[in-house]
Amino acid sequence: MSQFEFKTTGSAVSSYIKNENQGVGLESKISLLKNDLEQVAQLPKLGVSIRRIGDVKLYPFTDFFKGFEKVDAVRSTFGGKTDEVLEDLKVEFFSFKYGYMAVSDVDGHLLISTHHLKNSEFRVLYLDIVHELVHVKQFMEGRKLFNPEFEYVDNPTEIEAYRHAVKEAKRIGMRDEEIIEYLKVEWIDEDSLNRLVTSVGLKVPQK
Ligand SMILES: [Zn+2]
Repeated sequence: MSQFEFKTTGSAVSSYIKNENQGVGLESKISLLKNDLEQVAQLPKLGVSIRRIGDVKLYPFTDFFKGFEKVDAVRSTFGGKTDEVLEDLKVEFFSFKYGYMAVSDVDGHLLISTHHLKNSEFRVLYLDIVHELVHVKQFMEGRKLFNPEFEYVDNPTEIEAYRHAVKEAKRIGMRDEEIIEYLKVEWIDEDSLNRLVTSVGLKVPQK
């Protein structure tokens, strides 16, 4: 759902993944060693060392989310590749309370807040997954998920994902007011929310 968590935790997550990927190949090992030496060189000054490779724990998407391969809103995203994509999809959990779900712009896996997973309403999680899977597809197509040129609600990749989720929200019987409530997130102000509401084809409620 959000690009927000990437602004706060995402860069850390991405750099973990990037560093882990550097583990392949002799040349990169040498450059890692060089980095280590550079760190060691700074030791006398600060008296600390930093191990720069953190493991990212990934779980199969299907261990947590069952039956999504049968949902039309998901099948329309991936077409004939639906089963394959969901079988291969991985999930990483983070315990940060703020932020909900996102897709890694490094390798396209899902990131989910354990707090959100445990406490949010079922249909919110359902719609978030429908939304995030659009980002998974966008990532597969090589599209840029996090685009600093745009505000969150104006990012074309977000608008596409939100439109898709809103269509599904209507199909499962949610009323417009409920959908607008679903679209509200802490990091967007009223103007941005109204732009998003309009972008997904809903009417901004009159006060
Ligand atoms: Zn999104």
